[in-house]
Amino acid sequence: MSNVERTLSIIKPDAVERNLTQEIQNIFSKNNLKIVESKKIHITKEEAAEFYKVHQSKQFYSDLCSYLSSGPIVVMILEGENSVALNRKIMGATDPKNAEDNTIRKLYGLSIDKNSVHGSDSIENAKTEINFFFKD
Ligand code: UDP
Ligand code: MG
Repeated sequence: MSNVERTLSIIKPDAVERNLTQEIQNIFSKNNLKIVESKKIHITKEEAAEFYKVHQSKQFYSDLCSYLSSGPIVVMILEGENSVALNRKIMGATDPKNAEDNTIRKLYGLSIDKNSVHGSDSIENAKTEINFFFKD
C-alpha cells in the first residue's frame, strides 16, 4: 500500500553557513525523499516566532527565534513514503549528542540549538508548516 506524504524540512543557518546544503539534500535523495520544492530565504525574527509559536512558553523560545532568523535558511517540501517519520529518523535526535550514527544531526549538528535541520513532527503539522512557507 502506498503511503506517500509530504513534510517540511529546513536547513538551518548553521548548516547553510557551512555550505552543507548540497550534502544534506543528497542524504534526502539517497533515502528516497524527493525534494519537490526548495528555496533559500532569510526570515525575520517575527516570522520565526510565528513558525515556532508552539514553543512560545519554553525558556529557549526567544533565542530559538533569533537563531532561525540569524541568516539564510533553505526550506524544502520533501515527498515520499512515510516522509514525516522517515525524515525525523534521518535527522536524528534534537540534541546531536544523543543522535544515532549517520543521522544528519550526528554528522553535522553543533549543539542542541544549532542542530542543522528542522523537520515536521506529524502529518498535521507538516501541512501547516508547508502552507507557512509555500502558499499557492
Ligand atoms: N531547542 C533548543 N533548546 C532546547 C530544545 C530545543 O534550542 O532545549 C531548539 C532546537 O533548535 C530544536 C528546536 O528548538 O530543533 C525545536 O525544538 P523541538 O523540541 O521541537 O525539537 P525538534 O523537533 O527540532 O527535534
Ligand atoms: Mg519539533
